Amino acid sequence: MPFRSLGLHEAILQAVRETGYTEPTPIQKEAIPVVLRRKDLIGIAQTGTGKTAAFTLPILSMLATAPANGIRALVVAPTRELVVQIEENVRAYARHLPLTVATIFGGVSEKPQIKALEHGADLVIATPGRLLDIIRGREKAFAHIEFLVLDEADRMLDMGFVPAIRQIVKLLPRKRQTLFFSATLSREIEKLTGEFLTEPETVEIGRRSNPADTVTQSVHEISQHLKPTLLLHLLQDPRMAMVLVFTRTKHGADRIARKLDQAGISSGTIHSNRSQNQRLRALNEFREGKTRVLVATDIAARGIDVDGITHVVNYDFPPHHEDYVHRIGRTGRAKAVGEAISFVSREEEDSLRGLERFTRRGVPRVKADGFDYNQPGPARESGGNRRPVRKPGEVRVPKGEPNHGQRRRRGGRPDGKPRDVSMSGEPGKGSAGKGIGRFSGFGRKK
Ligand code: AMP
Repeated sequence: MPFRSLGLHEAILQAVRETGYTEPTPIQKEAIPVVLRRKDLIGIAQTGTGKTAAFTLPILSMLATAPANGIRALVVAPTRELVVQIEENVRAYARHLPLTVATIFGGVSEKPQIKALEHGADLVIATPGRLLDIIRGREKAFAHIEFLVLDEADRMLDMGFVPAIRQIVKLLPRKRQTLFFSATLSREIEKLTGEFLTEPETVEIGRRSNPADTVTQSVHEISQHLKPTLLLHLLQDPRMAMVLVFTRTKHGADRIARKLDQAGISSGTIHSNRSQNQRLRALNEFREGKTRVLVATDIAARGIDVDGITHVVNYDFPPHHEDYVHRIGRTGRAKAVGEAISFVSREEEDSLRGLERFTRRGVPRVKADGFDYNQPGPARESGGNRRPVRKPGEVRVPKGEPNHGQRRRRGGRPDGKPRDVSMSGEPGKGSAGKGIGRFSGFGRKK
């Protein structure tokens, strides 16, 4: 099925052709006609399915046919990285249209963002916390909104953004079209759709919550202290050309980057201790191939949209299966294939088993050629796992007892979530910051 048959604006079709897409992905095929019919939509789709274009293409198409003053479309997304990625998509697809876009997120100066609101960009892409901070007293800016998109709604729910979203939605006209995207459809998510949407149509792509089928998954069962050595060993393989490594903490990310650096492997890091500019630079260097490895924490990596990631390495296995699904969705994007390699220590086995129960699929256990899984580790570092390695024949501690205390000692929150969940001043952080905001028109070549 060609893009042409979907009923999109000619200028959008031209931009899509220039982007190199030959045919719509399944979510695009299903969702675009629904959006163009002006229906509310629930899209259940993982990242990597082409969901961003599924909502941006029809919205831009409709904005193009009925120019008007003021903000007409609002996209709300959980993190600034995702906001920037959506903006890049929008800019590419709208390059032949005289539309304006603005982004709003924490961690950078408010001034240009306020100006953007007051000038009334056609389309605003925002994180909920900062948007709520600056909208007070400027509620009128939202009086003409025709389209609202809530992207990665399941993640926004996890991050505690629902109250902020409720307040934002209250400021919008009731008569609007709402599009709601989520990787998973839980009961809580269903409740939210009832709250924000009117007679929606649902489009669901793939099995619920199952990792993308284009990704080959494997697990290395390994002692925590050998993880750095295994990573360096695996990176001897030149096929690992563009590697995204996930760690539980920002300090862990920095430690790995230092190790890679010592081994002469180029890398960058993105996590919440790094400024917006540092993160964007790290992301761009990775995208352009200047660095081979990008080390990231979960939250900072939300919405990373980089084509050609060959491998995702779960250096620390995520306690929540949703994070696993999101992480591995960074490779095998659209129609490409990718590999997800997980390092699982004894403490992380329960999380792995939880994932396997959830997806009803086992992940194959593998061993790297030429790697000794029983070797003594390098000198111990602070913050690592201090548990002694289990010797052959050693009796296991009964299940269920030690894990909680262990997790707390290792610095996680008592509920098992990673600590650095808050970024870009959202929520609950002051929004004073450095760097620049964005407000600019389309049509300008970069
Ligand atoms: P998303 O799920 O929106 O994060 O998109 C995943 C990736 O698929 C992005 O790198 C897009 O550029 C790419 N993509 C989106 N639509 C298409 C398409 N129709 N054909 C090929 N690639 C696409």
